[in-house]
Amino acid sequence: MRNRRDFVKALAAATAGGFVAQRGLAWAQGGPAQKRREVFIGRKRIKVIDSHAHLNIAEVANVVKGTPFERQATTTGDGIIGPARIAWMDRDGIDVAMLTQQGAFWYAVQDRGLARDIVKAQNEGTAAVVAKYPDRFIGMASMPLQFPDLAAEALEDGVKRLGFKGAGISAGWAGAKNLTDPEYDVFWSKAQELGTFLFMHPGGTNGNGDPHFGGRGALPNTIGNPLETTIFFSRLIYEGTLDKFPGLKICGAHGGGYLPSYMGRTDAQCRRQDDVCTGKKRPVEEYFKTQLMADIMVFREEGLRHLVAEMGTGQLVYGTDMPFGWPVTPDFILNAKFLNDAQKEQILGGNLIKLLKLTPPSTK
Ligand SMILES: [Zn+2]
Repeated sequence: MRNRRDFVKALAAATAGGFVAQRGLAWAQGGPAQKRREVFIGRKRIKVIDSHAHLNIAEVANVVKGTPFERQATTTGDGIIGPARIAWMDRDGIDVAMLTQQGAFWYAVQDRGLARDIVKAQNEGTAAVVAKYPDRFIGMASMPLQFPDLAAEALEDGVKRLGFKGAGISAGWAGAKNLTDPEYDVFWSKAQELGTFLFMHPGGTNGNGDPHFGGRGALPNTIGNPLETTIFFSRLIYEGTLDKFPGLKICGAHGGGYLPSYMGRTDAQCRRQDDVCTGKKRPVEEYFKTQLMADIMVFREEGLRHLVAEMGTGQLVYGTDMPFGWPVTPDFILNAKFLNDAQKEQILGGNLIKLLKLTPPSTK
């Protein structure tokens, strides 16, 4: 059974004092074992895949021991995958979760050897979790993005040696660097070559240190996270990165940030001031119908309707942010009145089955 103290501690650490997961806490207090929920659309059993789930690997503590990063390792709590996570997925009707590392502290490591070792421990630990529960999890590589060449190596190692289907990236943790700078071509070109699905999750740096983000509302999380994604997606478009690497597929966490809700301004800027848009080759909306994807963590049907209108159901994937207890079970999609059955199936798992070319046991 879930350890409640660990759960609360992990929540507090990961959400910077922000969101308290009532649903998760109630679950943490125990109760009878739940039967696994199977999701149907009509009479068809469909596979629900969570694109946005996190884990921590306890072994990382041994790698960072005695370094300034010693306190960053997480050895307890809900990020450590075990029966409690499986039970939670069973209860909500999630068949498969794609696991990205929680946090991106290792982007601040300046020692190449240490950065490589941390990521190796994370990735091998993730592969071990997937090996233990092959029909419930899909592994996503972590990489030391502060060193683009090492990041490319780690990505290749993750995909080829460890069998990962994708990789997780954060935009705001590479220090002063921008992932659209030419030195990152080596990384993007490797991701394109391998056909890797990239899940972009904010590193949580937006607003940190800015007094306007202080006070109530957990603003660095609530608005800082989608802002980081918004800036990152804008740069990918404006700097021409997506045109240079047209094979890239990048999914933005938390509904792709604010950009899908504000595309009009991004586009209008190009109409009034030609010179700021010379780096990109296509209309803004086209990137959101081809290379950019988003999870559906917008929580309200009207937000979802707008996301579908701007991006199409083919670009959207289900995501929960587990284990952080956001209220977004498969019912959010199943109950959306404006979606037809085929569209619901696409979002809940069909798009990822196709994109990641999933075969049993992950899709059985
Ligand atoms: Zn998350």
